[in-house]
Amino acid sequence: MGAQAEREPKRPAIVVKDLGMSFGSNRVLDGVSLEVAEGEVVVVIGPSGSGKSTLLRCLNLLERPQSGDIVVEGRSLLSPNADIRRMREDIGMVFQQFNLFPHLSVIDNIMLAPLQVRKRTKPDARAKAEELLELVGLSEKADAYPASLSGGQAQRIAIARALAMEPRIMLFDEPTSALDPEMVGEVLAVMKQLAARGMTMVVVTHEMGFAREVGHRVLFMEGGVIVEEGPPDAVFDRPGKARTREFLSKVL
Ligand code: ADP
Ligand code: MG
Repeated sequence: MGAQAEREPKRPAIVVKDLGMSFGSNRVLDGVSLEVAEGEVVVVIGPSGSGKSTLLRCLNLLERPQSGDIVVEGRSLLSPNADIRRMREDIGMVFQQFNLFPHLSVIDNIMLAPLQVRKRTKPDARAKAEELLELVGLSEKADAYPASLSGGQAQRIAIARALAMEPRIMLFDEPTSALDPEMVGEVLAVMKQLAARGMTMVVVTHEMGFAREVGHRVLFMEGGVIVEEGPPDAVFDRPGKARTREFLSKVL
């Protein structure tokens, strides 16, 4: 925390301005604004249906918000001439379901996008994939197939696969929610390591221990708005809003 706070303020990696999004008459994002600094880990918490996934999906343009703006590294994602594919490649996303390609070995899963999208050479893609397997602690699984992996291993591979595109920002949408409890720790450990390397991360999670330990900032969302935000200790120990207190009393 200290080093992060003392350093010169960096330019924001992500600026979200007054985002609005409805599905029919359901107002899912109702004027959401936030900034994420380079190297910052922002943890988003809140009840089911509060708009957390929609916010994350907007950041990666899997959903297109109806109003507001999203500026990533100085460029608007929503301007008519934005190179959406290119910008999406710089933002990695990890979901609750890992969605590995079942017919490809672990290393081929990791190498696929670098080869096809980034046009890397095979030796380059392989070297990078091996490095990432080491990072997630699964070097010995390079030639295994997804069906033979545990949930925790599959999610670590999904993280490695996202990292293979060399994203500058990583989005995580409840990456441990589908896992058996004994596998949650190994996935969080990889994410913690990533944070320590300075990755800019937005993480939706119910893992309050992770939020407190790794998050630089916690946002509490409900009903499509950010109700409260602040450093983890402040939000968890001294929440200012009744709605935050009520939510925390249920999950802590
Ligand atoms: P959270 O991730 O916080 O649980 P979501 O962002 O998934 O919340 O959902 C917020 C609201 O938007 C919910 O009411 C959900 O039913 C609705 N919603 C999400 N995606 C869609 C969609 N593709 N079509 C219609 N409604 C949706
Ligand atoms: Mg969700």
